[in-house]
Amino acid sequence: MSNQNTVNRELFDEVMVPNYSPSAVIPVRGLGSRVWDQEGREYIDFAGGIAVNCLGHCHPALVGALKEQADKIWHLSNVMTNEPALRLAKNITDNTFADKVYFANSGAESNEAALKLARRWALDVHGADKTQIIAFKQGFHGRTFFTVTVGGQAAYSDGFGPKPGDVYHAEYNNLESVKALISDKTCAVVMEPLQGEGGIVSPTDEFVKGVRELCNEHNALLVFDEVQTGVGRTGDLYAYMGLGVTPDILTTAKALGGGFPIGAMITTTEIAKHLKIGTHGSTYGGNPLACAVSEAAFNTVNDPQVLNGVKAKAKLYVDGLNAINEKHNIFSEIRGKGLLVGAVLNEKYQGRAKDFLNAAMSEGLMTLVAGASIVRFAPSLVIPNEDITEGLARFEKAVANIVNA
Ligand SMILES: *Cc1c(COP(=O)(O)O)cnc(C)c1O
Repeated sequence: MSNQNTVNRELFDEVMVPNYSPSAVIPVRGLGSRVWDQEGREYIDFAGGIAVNCLGHCHPALVGALKEQADKIWHLSNVMTNEPALRLAKNITDNTFADKVYFANSGAESNEAALKLARRWALDVHGADKTQIIAFKQGFHGRTFFTVTVGGQAAYSDGFGPKPGDVYHAEYNNLESVKALISDKTCAVVMEPLQGEGGIVSPTDEFVKGVRELCNEHNALLVFDEVQTGVGRTGDLYAYMGLGVTPDILTTAKALGGGFPIGAMITTTEIAKHLKIGTHGSTYGGNPLACAVSEAAFNTVNDPQVLNGVKAKAKLYVDGLNAINEKHNIFSEIRGKGLLVGAVLNEKYQGRAKDFLNAAMSEGLMTLVAGASIVRFAPSLVIPNEDITEGLARFEKAVANIVNA
């Protein structure tokens, strides 16, 4: 028997596999961009569940969709189709380059589907020799064995035995490094249209357009992993729209469910047809409950007012962080796009992003890191401006605590 008093951080160490090291704070309730822990302490949420809670906590549109669907039907499996899935797919295809949608439950699974589709497409259309996948150093695509191998950090994929083969890594924003690897044996180039986990790195115009051209020259598919950038995060519905480069396959998850697990792989009819009946699948993928919530999230975000709001709120972050930096001289650069903001620590504070995160938590502010030296902010896309101001004030206190220590 357990009650709230016995649920604490120590219990984590007792009953959980030790692959995570969570904060001692255990949030129990959230509303908008505010969160409360077991002791009733309040936090401002600049983390958004790692770029997931695009409409904050308990947004009425999402709660309403969840409750309404909860009373109708939760799960059917893909032996049946269902109304929410088809409605969501129609919304996605009406608003993107894609004609077809495959539903999964996470970013990694969406990428797994994209990678398998690319390989199958190449086999069907070009023969057995076109199997090479080019991805990027510091890229992140999830934690299944195929996706972690395609990801650009060997530390995450080493130590699990033989890896899926024929995966190569070029350098992000270095077109020559892609040229050196790409050939007619390349079946796909997989990239984030803004590296998230790898350090909030935007692609240059020349790079992203150059990669598209190289893919065209070599009949390779361009796969955009928009798991973190998708559904409004950068101020466009999808980041590709702001880059003027259209991929052949795109994956979306995180914000797609606004906090309910769902992911999708989207593509053209011509490519989609190679995932024939029986070639791939998921038990939960596209279940009515997830799709009903996602439909509400997608449609709420896909609104000019919300998307323009992202750009306006991004400016509040950049201006606020620059002001903090002028006083305390801790950042070398503020970068990112929309509400995916990276504050890069300067020479003096290298490797200390986690200290800033912890100091912020003590001041009642939830933040993220992206690597050892970058503090990352990925708040709700509709975070009230007052919460941004108050959160940045708390962040400044945290910064002062570190600088003056
Ligand atoms: C988070 C992330 C993933 C993995 O998503 P999961 O839902 O954790 O499987 C994949 N790609 C990118 C770019 C991500 O940011």
